Formats: sequence, structure tokens, C-alpha cells
Amino acid sequence: MYIIAIDGPAASGKSTVAKLIAKQLGFSYLDTGAMYRAYTLYVIEHNIDPYNEELVNKNLININISFDKTDIYLNSINVTSRIREDDVTKLVSIVCAYKKVREYMVKLQREIASTSENGVILDGRDIGTVVFPNANLKIYLVASNEARAKRRKIDNDKLGIICSEEEVLKELIRRDEIDSQLKSELMTSLQPAFARISAMGVRYSALPAHTKEIADALNEEMSDKWSGLRGISVVSFGLSSATASEEDEKMIKELQ
Ligand code: C5P
Repeated sequence: MYIIAIDGPAASGKSTVAKLIAKQLGFSYLDTGAMYRAYTLYVIEHNIDPYNEELVNKNLININISFDKTDIYLNSINVTSRIREDDVTKLVSIVCAYKKVREYMVKLQREIASTSENGVILDGRDIGTVVFPNANLKIYLVASNEARAKRRKIDNDKLGIICSEEEVLKELIRRDEIDSQLKSELMTSLQPAFARISAMGVRYSALPAHTKEIADALNEEMSDKWSGLRGISVVSFGLSSATASEEDEKMIKELQ
């Protein structure tokens, strides 16, 4: 089974890239953020105090999360759109920080991935470190704050969620702060990159299997759909010692 892990800050384009790669390689895509969102929705709808860890943990036995293609179901109800709404987005970082919640989701993610036929691509903060530390390919995706806010605003517009780009950016930065506080033993930080595939050009040398196809797909996609949304950069790693070029380092720093 070939496993690809994608990490990166909120709205850096993880799910867009993951879906694209999944299509390109015939892999299944598992949206792990959607799973944390689904449980957050359960907490909201059942008037469970999200700050009461014990209570939140206790209710895990009442949920069943499943996927059908790109749709996610919570206790057999399709919640794909509902989990993108503001109330869920605001609370998900609280709920996902609880150890028991993470253990539950990680177990489920491993189970779902094990049923995949060809290979699976997963995105989320802990995929390459906790869920599948031995993933065949790990990608770290970064984007400028401006590009992230623009992307999230486009997503929100499609869902009919009204908000300004400034509000979106504020919310993204707030979630980054909460997410980065969660690192500890639950989310050990990622290893340094050994090679980078950037929006400005692709380097193929010594990349793991499938990387060339992935890079081709990304470059093709970026040239039309994402033009104007500067600030996508894919960082790929998986081998230990090699380092990124100075030029790539500079770009990544600039984007962050
Ligand atoms: O990717 P998305 O924005 O849908 O993820 C929602 C939230 O779920 C993230 O902000 C993060 O707090 C959490 N999450 C997580 N672990 C993952 C995926 C998402 O804690 N593997």
C-alpha cells in the first residue's frame, strides 16, 4: 500500500492538492480534517460543552463516521457541507486537541486507509508524524497568508458563507496559533525537507516514486486554475540527509 501524507497550515491548499494527486494516481483521498469537523458538529448539535474534555471524550462512543467518495457521513447523515460552516470551524481546534478524540480519529484513519485498494492520500497536521510516520511520501504545503485567505474566501463563497477576506485571514491566524500550541507529543513537528517542488519550477532528482507524476499534475493545474493565487509551494520529504536549495529555502521563507 502506497501512502502519501500532506501537511501544512490551514487553507494552504492541502485538500485541493490531495484530491488532484488522488485523481492522478487512482488513489483514495481521506480528508482527516473533515473527521474532526464531523465530531465537532456532533458536539454542537448535542449541546455538549466543547470545553468539557471529559464530556466530549465520553460521547465518542455515540458516533459513527463514514465516507462515500468525497462525502462524509455522521451517524448516516451526510454532513459534507454542514461541517464547513462557521460554528464548526470556530470550535474544531478545541475539540481536536483532546487526546482521546485524537486517538479515536487516528485509529479510524488507519482502519479506513487499510481498506484502500491502490494507495491512499491523507492530509492533516499529524499524518506524516503520528498516523503514518512511515508514509512513502510526505508533502508539506505552504502558502502565503494572502493566498490562504483568498482560497478560503473562495471556498466560503461557494458555500454561501458571507465574510470578508480580512475576517477569513484573522480566523486562519487564530487557528494557526491554536494548532501550533497542540504540537507536544500529539503532533511532533515535521522533519526538515529533503527536496522541494515549487510552483516556480520542479526539481526531480532523487525524489521518491510517484513524485514526478505528482509534480507534473500540480504544475499543469497551477498554470491555469491557480494562476493569480501566488503562493503555492510543495515541499516533499521522506529521505533523511539531503537539503533544499538556497533558492527554495528563500522562497519558502518568503511565503511563510
Ligand atoms: O483541514 P481542515 O481545516 O478541515 O481541518 C479542521 C481542523 O481539524 C484543523 O484546523 C485542525 O485543528 C484539525 N485537524 C487535526 N488533525 C488532522 C486534521 C485536522 O487536528 N489530521
